[in-house]
Amino acid sequence: MKGISVLGSTGSIGIQTLELARLHPDLFRITALAAGSNVDLLERQVREFRPVVVSCSKETSAIELKRRLSDYSGPLWIGHSTEGLERAATAVGADLVVGGLPGSIGLRPCFAAVQAGKDLALATKEVLVMAGKLFMSTVAREGITLLPVDSEQSAIFQCLHGNRECEIKRIILTASGGPFSNFPRERMERITRDETLNHPRWKMGPKVTVDSATLMNKGLEVIEARWLFDVPANHIEVVIHPESIIHSMVEFADGSILAQLGATDMRIPISYALAFPSRINSGTQAVSFPALGSLNFQMPDTNRFPLLKAAYDVLEQSGNASAIILNAADEVAVELFLSEKIPFSYIPKIVLGALNRIPPIQVETLEEIEAFHQQVVNRLRKDWAAAVTG
Ligand code: MG
Repeated sequence: MKGISVLGSTGSIGIQTLELARLHPDLFRITALAAGSNVDLLERQVREFRPVVVSCSKETSAIELKRRLSDYSGPLWIGHSTEGLERAATAVGADLVVGGLPGSIGLRPCFAAVQAGKDLALATKEVLVMAGKLFMSTVAREGITLLPVDSEQSAIFQCLHGNRECEIKRIILTASGGPFSNFPRERMERITRDETLNHPRWKMGPKVTVDSATLMNKGLEVIEARWLFDVPANHIEVVIHPESIIHSMVEFADGSILAQLGATDMRIPISYALAFPSRINSGTQAVSFPALGSLNFQMPDTNRFPLLKAAYDVLEQSGNASAIILNAADEVAVELFLSEKIPFSYIPKIVLGALNRIPPIQVETLEEIEAFHQQVVNRLRKDWAAAVTG
């Protein structure tokens, strides 16, 4: 029985992790849950899965959860904020931590989990984007197993299983292209929030759905793959594959290409991370090749989607400050877009503008990385507020 701590339990990855735990009560026991402020769902999750540690993002949510659980019996520690998250990430009895928190907030608890010797199923891209080098050296030092949950990284990880010692010629990351891959430039000026959140293939959280539409998500995945698999950026290619059946591929020295295929359902990569190195029923639909008919591929258009190229440019820089700027600026831009303060076409403008204007500084430690991230976020929010009022 594997003890599992779920960080981001009320988000898309967390909910699907718990579905798998429900499907396999003989394999998994939920040790800890950490969530934001969706107390309704968190209360139901606590009653069903009976964790021993639970954490909310805010104190008010933790107080509300305690009040609602006044009739609950059983050992349960309820906390909040940074302390609560760290407690959930390092909970005694958790063998595997699922890092499913969206955004930079997931950085510190993922480090805490690894430092506590927990295996980590990593979905939070920002950990590798903001701190790839430091994180991978921490993983190596602690000797834990790092299991990627992002579907593309999981595909590559699966293709490399049993081929670890082989020379990798190329990693081919597939991208659905998002909802706007065939939109002409003029039409892209009028893209709405609802159109953006309606992803044609994947059901995901709002931040990653917007990032898929700008191809920033694929750019972040290029950076992720660079660190996860220790492959230089010029050996990582992106190909648009609208059907999203091939989740990514690896080409080896002999010219053989291995691909991982399956339904567009995050329960496949999540279940692989949970049960590794076994495979378990993930509850997903079978793929019908005759029904699909054909699989298509095309080159990404970096003129209409400049953020993909920006990610490659960032990897050319020494140090990871440029990656932190890219990521922080995207976080701010997507937040502004989701609150309908800027049009879709401003997202790349804000990110590219930040990369041009903000000088990268030397950052090494986790504290420096977090501080620089916050500095960039604050500066961009202030610039935006000044632009609106001035
Ligand atoms: Mg992905």
